[in-house]
Amino acid sequence: MSTATRARTHQWRGVIEEYRDLLEIPEGTAAVTLREGGTALVHSEWLSGLTRGEVWLKVEGDNPTGSFKDRGMTAAISVAKHDGAEAVVCASTGNTSASMAAYAAKAGLKPLVLVPEGKIAAGKMAQAILHGAQVIMVRGNFDDCLAMAKGLAWDYPVALVNSVNPVRLEGQKTAAFEICDFLGDAPDYHLLPVGNAGNISAYWLGYGQYADLGLATRKPVMRGFQAEGAAPLVTGEPFPDPETRATAIRIGNPASWKLAEAARDESGGSFESVTDDQILAAQRELACHDGVFVEPASAAGVAGLLQQLAGGTSYAGKQLVVTVTGHGLKDTATALEGFGPLVDTVVDVDVTAAAEAAGLR
Ligand SMILES: *Cc1c(COP(=O)(O)O)cnc(C)c1O
Repeated sequence: MSTATRARTHQWRGVIEEYRDLLEIPEGTAAVTLREGGTALVHSEWLSGLTRGEVWLKVEGDNPTGSFKDRGMTAAISVAKHDGAEAVVCASTGNTSASMAAYAAKAGLKPLVLVPEGKIAAGKMAQAILHGAQVIMVRGNFDDCLAMAKGLAWDYPVALVNSVNPVRLEGQKTAAFEICDFLGDAPDYHLLPVGNAGNISAYWLGYGQYADLGLATRKPVMRGFQAEGAAPLVTGEPFPDPETRATAIRIGNPASWKLAEAARDESGGSFESVTDDQILAAQRELACHDGVFVEPASAAGVAGLLQQLAGGTSYAGKQLVVTVTGHGLKDTATALEGFGPLVDTVVDVDVTAAAEAAGLR
């Protein structure tokens, strides 16, 4: 590559500048961006083999703070800044606060975070704190935190940036645009983990918009997967005490309930639950087979796909996208559980000893 060509190599501009004309945000809103989006769509040989179809992973852990939350956050923080906000608040299971804190830092806004006490993965907490957020732990669950965040935004001068803020979905729908742009059309099926249900709603919005504009000829069947202990969209009833190791989807009363049901019904899709054991097994298999390390919640879509295949669902000849929502480095403690001591083989400085320990001959 010549020097001149290198200099002209395009750098992804972030989801607002890449798709501004398709987003409903106030005209002239300056983008507060960390160049989020433009994430990899990785072909999974493993899952393609199992389905006898074509399976792509939308790897959202590739975003600047390690989860898809950055897509919505660039939009929400940009608009909050445009509107003159000085402080922003969110309730979070971890990733929203990590993302909000980073974008607030970039924008010069004061970030305030409400999280359920003791239920946040260490990596996410470190992000929020290092980016300068005031972190308040609440003796309650995510749903309690969200109610409090709404109360604060109502009564005090702070802007709410949870996905009840419609601007968040405007940013998040860009993932659907990217998938269609890359594949040349929408896939047959789209599978993903569901917690507060903002993401599935945003994807459906994005796919619908591309179809309306003639940029896609079809829309996918949407299949959402929840953890068994936090599966309100599966049972149709809120879970007062949601419980799962997949903390990012530990939500009992999804804010985007209605939109998520519409996505299911309009696409001919479904919601299903998977157990924590299935989720953690899928996380490990994904890491081993595809080299993609995701946090537990992010593996719920893959766990769901494996469950459906075991139950006889056929995806033969079909094209699937599975969103893996966040990076594995966020929560290494949960990932390593069940593996015993981290390093269980210790040898002297001796090649033969290492070879012997490794079973090489
Ligand atoms: C937020 C989040 C989810 C759930 O997304 P919703 O929009 O709340 O349904 C899933 N996985 C990860 C890693 C998340 O951060």
